[in-house]
Amino acid sequence: MKDIDQSLKGSVFQTQRWSLHDGEGIRTTIFLGGCPLRCSWCHNPESWNENPIHRVTVKEVMDLIERDAIFYRTSGGGITFSGGEPTRQGEFLKTLVKNAMFLGIDTAIETSGYFNWEEQKETFEMLDSVFVDIKHMDPAVHRKFTGIDNSLILENIMKISDLGKRPVIRIPLISDVNDDGDNIEKTGEFILNHLSIEGVEILPYHNLGEYKYRDLGIEIKHQFFTPRSEKIQEVKEILKKLGVNLVY
Ligand code: SF4
Repeated sequence: MKDIDQSLKGSVFQTQRWSLHDGEGIRTTIFLGGCPLRCSWCHNPESWNENPIHRVTVKEVMDLIERDAIFYRTSGGGITFSGGEPTRQGEFLKTLVKNAMFLGIDTAIETSGYFNWEEQKETFEMLDSVFVDIKHMDPAVHRKFTGIDNSLILENIMKISDLGKRPVIRIPLISDVNDDGDNIEKTGEFILNHLSIEGVEILPYHNLGEYKYRDLGIEIKHQFFTPRSEKIQEVKEILKKLGVNLVY
């Protein structure tokens, strides 16, 4: 541990102790600032700022994490790195993951999958669990709603799977954007043909983040809707019929 730079600084826009939804057991979620995507439905637009004023050292983050170490061990929990896109601060993230590994603390990441693989490979080798989104299988639709196409994301998901990490694939399900049968079938086929995964988690869109756009003075470009419960069920049935394992 003494070889790891504890003074390295990074931007953390939020921390959440006692989180139960971002992996196994009781967890501390660290939200790292910066994201190269601009998903029109993003409920964390405050994460887009690359250089928030609130920069902290690795040591400060680790001190917070270690406060709950006993609870991680007794519940099978640990730390989850979220964002934003946590790989955006590659060195900072890698150093935090390394520290946690030395302390025997479980680590998970929530990622968009959009990053340079060579720069992040070592970090992914150390992480215990990976949650990664597939937002849409059509590159043009993906670009329309997120600002980038999906090719690098799909490539990286295959590489994560090839590392043997068995990612959880998350589908943020948005009415009339990605909940049609054709897109869901293509998503399922991609998973079955190219990945070895823990399972798929369907996350229906909610508009709880809308007030943040108003507070930050960011224009709301599209009005999105939560899929009806019948639609959510239909999507799950399509995936199940294809043989895709659903989790949660
Ligand atoms: S990848 Fe996540 S944090 Fe980034 S814009 Fe999309 S929803 Fe927001």
